[in-house]
Amino acid sequence: SKQKGRGRIEYFREDLFSAIEARTLLSTKLEESIRNGELYYCFQPIIDTDTARTVGYEALARWCHNGQQVPPDVFMSLAEESGRIHVIQDHLFDFLAANVAKLGEDAYLAINISPSQMVAETFYRSLQRFLAESGFAAERLELELTERSLLLVGDEVVVLLERIKALGVKLSIDDFGTGYSCLSYLKDLPFDKLKIDRSFVMNIDNDPKNLAIVMTIINLAKNLGMSVLAEGVEKEGQANVLKRMGCHLFQGYLYSKPLTLSQLTEAY
Ligand code: C2E
Ligand code: CA
Ligand code: CA
Ligand code: CA
Repeated sequence: SKQKGRGRIEYFREDLFSAIEARTLLSTKLEESIRNGELYYCFQPIIDTDTARTVGYEALARWCHNGQQVPPDVFMSLAEESGRIHVIQDHLFDFLAANVAKLGEDAYLAINISPSQMVAETFYRSLQRFLAESGFAAERLELELTERSLLLVGDEVVVLLERIKALGVKLSIDDFGTGYSCLSYLKDLPFDKLKIDRSFVMNIDNDPKNLAIVMTIINLAKNLGMSVLAEGVEKEGQANVLKRMGCHLFQGYLYSKPLTLSQLTEAY
């Protein structure tokens, strides 16, 4: 990554590792990278336009090896395939435990959880350990699950999600509308929030079909008593359309890119 402008990070395609390089890196350098602090989180602010305040942050995993970024969706899915996701997750929980205090006193924190993480009992234990060690209130933590991962939901995951809810932790559905929407999970599982995928937000100001889909998602959330957030908001025009439809939680480059910890503390 290259530093650009007021402490912003920009990615350039040529700085990114290919999936093949990432696989090699994962199998040979994971522990070393963890020791060297190459694996960490960035935090993207979530804004409530009703109060014009940052109400939360989404933690986004970063692996920066020799100055090159490995895309998080690439290394997370490779880590999942190779069964090493727990090594990464435990390290990232440690990173969070050491740093959550820097997020302020009320902001919530959302973290992404992938399918295979959910089935393991180890995830629940790591989560509990993180809450105990950091002192971070469970009510301020939100887990984001994609629709794709909900497809794989079996009885044991339903039980696990209910145990996680019982701790006070919030649950949201990420990239809503892009998966194989099987709306029954909205009825059967204890979700608190829908995150509207960037692909719908992108053309909302000029594509009537996207507009209709987004309006339906917002109403669905409202009618189910869930909150709704729009991600990937880049333009004022998109935000205005969404606000008129009753959405007031926003995340996107219009407000802020994901920030490193030092950028975050500088911003105060
Ligand atoms: P996601 O959960 O949908 O995260 C949002 C992605 O959109 C992030 O990319 C973020 O940087 C980007 N983004 C945010 N606002 C804008 C915008 O206004 N415009 C555009 N063009 N992009 C925007 P990132 O950080 O590269 O993450 C990609 C994906 O990797 C995530 O998608 C998530 O699925 C996965 N991922 C990231 N961190 C983790 C993690 O800790 N665990 C797991 N399991 N997956 C993760
Ligand atoms: Ca997410
Ligand atoms: Ca998303
Ligand atoms: Ca996504």
